[in-house]
Amino acid sequence: MDIGLLSVSMNVYSTKRLAEEAEKLGHYIELIDHTKCSVKLGLGRPEIYLGEENVTNEFDAIIPRIGAKVTRHGAAIVKQFEMNGIFSTARSLGITRARNKVRTLQIMARKGIPIPETLFSINPDNIEEQINLLGGPPVIIKLQEGTQGLGVILAESKKSAKSIIDTFYKMNTSILIQKYIEESNGEDIRIFVVGHKVVAAMKRRSALGEFRSNVHRGGDTEAVKPTAKEQYIALNAVKYLGLGVAGVDLIRSKKGPLLIEVNASPGLQGIEAATGVNIAREVILFVQKNGGRRK
Ligand code: ADP
Ligand code: MG
Repeated sequence: MDIGLLSVSMNVYSTKRLAEEAEKLGHYIELIDHTKCSVKLGLGRPEIYLGEENVTNEFDAIIPRIGAKVTRHGAAIVKQFEMNGIFSTARSLGITRARNKVRTLQIMARKGIPIPETLFSINPDNIEEQINLLGGPPVIIKLQEGTQGLGVILAESKKSAKSIIDTFYKMNTSILIQKYIEESNGEDIRIFVVGHKVVAAMKRRSALGEFRSNVHRGGDTEAVKPTAKEQYIALNAVKYLGLGVAGVDLIRSKKGPLLIEVNASPGLQGIEAATGVNIAREVILFVQKNGGRRK
């Protein structure tokens, strides 16, 4: 099979691993830097170019690894491959849905997937009421499109929550306010889904003096066996968003597991190391099963 790997560089662990496993399984795999792609629309079939090379008909499947900074353009390129009938491990719509936490949580809430109580608004006139609607402080304030824990703030008092929220509203920054799940204890669970299967899961524990468990914030990892309910949540979340490959993040609360976000281009490094699972191979096997020219 000829596989297009949409990523900005081969010098990234996940990209390298996917290429390695694809080659081991006898496939041709090519790096497509989506930031260098253009689409030509007009009469006839739209054409996709990588620089000057026409790649419209080159692939049987694509694997998008779209970074946070170029989601819009990346998703548009994926959409074009999709519209041309090429299998993708993540649908364009799924990528944009997962990119925005509010959008993800709205879909989860409608489908009955448990999430922390969350509020979004842009109104600076009743911030106190907004905080009260979540049961008062402490509250979590998040950038709707943050990653790596960078846009996540814990506000312990009403005073600080109010001033932080007010600042974001006045700066026209899209945020959400969320009930702080204290008993999650600075830990979260990352469940890696490929196709309709949970292939690996790890627990991330935050560094000392930190509530965010992101590895980029110094968190450490260990393999974990998710409960049946956690697996059910992860599998359904991925299905509802329209993703074939995804990382689902849950926190454990007194009332059971709560979904906090879904990552459409989940990294492989941390979780392959923590669990010993060959996830890259699982992804390629999934592509092998579903890809094929002009399905
Ligand atoms: P990011 O996209 O930046 O990773 P997350 O929503 O995943 O943002 O939040 C980062 C981390 O902060 C989570 O992994 C979790 O450890 C912690 N966290 C997020 N939301 C809550 C919450 N409502 N209660 C307690 N901890 C939270
Ligand atoms: Mg996260």
